[in-house]
Amino acid sequence: MIKLYNTLSKKKQVFRPLKDKEVRFYSCGPTVYNYAHIGNLRTYIFNDILKRVLRYNGLKVKHVMNLTDVGHLTSDADTGEDKLEKAAEREQKTAWQIAEFYTESFKKDLKKLNIEEPDIWAKATDHIEEQIKVIKILERKGFTYRIEDGIYFDSSKIKDYGKLEGKKKKNIMAGARVEMAEGKKNPQDFALWKFSPKDKKRQMEWNSPWGIGFPGWHTECVAMSKKHLGVPFDIHTGGIDHIAVHHTNEIAQTEAAFEKDLAMLWLHGEFLDLKKEKMAKSEGNVILLGDIIRKGFDPLSFRYLCLTAHYRSKLTFSWKALESAQKSLENLRERIFGLKDKGEEKKKEFLKYINDDLDMPKALAFVWKIVKEEKATQELLFDFDRVFGLGLNKIKEVEIPEEIIEMVKQREKFRKKSEWEKADLIRKEIERKGYAVEDTAKGSSVIKKISPRAV
Ligand code: AMP
Ligand code: ZN
Repeated sequence: MIKLYNTLSKKKQVFRPLKDKEVRFYSCGPTVYNYAHIGNLRTYIFNDILKRVLRYNGLKVKHVMNLTDVGHLTSDADTGEDKLEKAAEREQKTAWQIAEFYTESFKKDLKKLNIEEPDIWAKATDHIEEQIKVIKILERKGFTYRIEDGIYFDSSKIKDYGKLEGKKKKNIMAGARVEMAEGKKNPQDFALWKFSPKDKKRQMEWNSPWGIGFPGWHTECVAMSKKHLGVPFDIHTGGIDHIAVHHTNEIAQTEAAFEKDLAMLWLHGEFLDLKKEKMAKSEGNVILLGDIIRKGFDPLSFRYLCLTAHYRSKLTFSWKALESAQKSLENLRERIFGLKDKGEEKKKEFLKYINDDLDMPKALAFVWKIVKEEKATQELLFDFDRVFGLGLNKIKEVEIPEEIIEMVKQREKFRKKSEWEKADLIRKEIERKGYAVEDTAKGSSVIKKISPRAV
């Protein structure tokens, strides 16, 4: 029994897929105008853990993730520039090249973090027709209006608009602190289709029944999830910043157009922040996975760090915390490597933690406990790693010093001459220096590093 916290119901609830044993899962992906920062990556690690927990419980997962390559503007109020077009100017490339470059770099980051790719990557620019179709339905049903710069969604037509956030709709008037496109009826209204500017040629633009332009950011997920998963589907995820605007607007459009729920369960990951500061690309204070690797860290130590906090708690990043995560991960791998084979049935307890709203900190603490008490087998821990994805079977490559290799050769000589006592003395000396000799059936010796006992 898997329990997950649903942002919509504000409760932990037992999860059962709508269709047999297949979970249809959609997660909002990156806007590919820049490198993903480690805050973004925390959210994708959380998605990955969710997917792995579902699978560990014997469910099949069909996972769709979008790539926003058009329509995400620098301001959430549907004003400002398109992030992709702005990056193209900055880097003297086309918007298409920008999208391709940062998509590839995002995929490389995922790989380094053991995050499995989705079954379907859905690119916004590949689904313009589908988005136009959604907007046409909304128009036919009377949810849209036209102003100078585009076609907008009238949020006042939705009775429970904002229910995901759980707040009563605030009708802040135009001009009162919110930046707002001229002519918008309600501050919460959002662009479905924006017209290309009259004074500037956009790189990405399409014909539509309303004029040349491009889709607003909130429509792509509605059109693409419907196409690839059908509505309603099981689980929709994103970072908490998506609750108030992006996901709220996805729900509003789906309910208006299709008269159905969009997703049964909404999960949101809390932010990763820097001490005292928010980590945001717009504020220029971001750390990338590349920075972590350049400093000599194993990227999976960042994954480990993320698992030490529950996904619904804030995680404050510091280099010190990362260092200690790296040490813990290396220690854990070495301890597991040195485990003697005396496992007990521990899977039930492990399931209890991971199925309680993905409680990774408790699952990790449990693993440490059974490893320290030597009550687990390597096999079991590698099985648990199907959920953690920490590469627990990856013992650090150890360089064997020349001196040790010489000692092993010496010992071999004594063994061949059946001088067991002398051979044994050398074995002890090797162990004292932190290495172990293993004799294989062929008589040759292999050397492994002994797992340090003191942590
Ligand atoms: P973006 O590329 O800006 O659309 O963001 C990609 C994903 O990262 C979204 O799901 C955001 O909610 C999430 N996100 C953005 N900033 C952070 C952060 N500091 N910590 C965790 N997740 C974040
Ligand atoms: Zn989305």
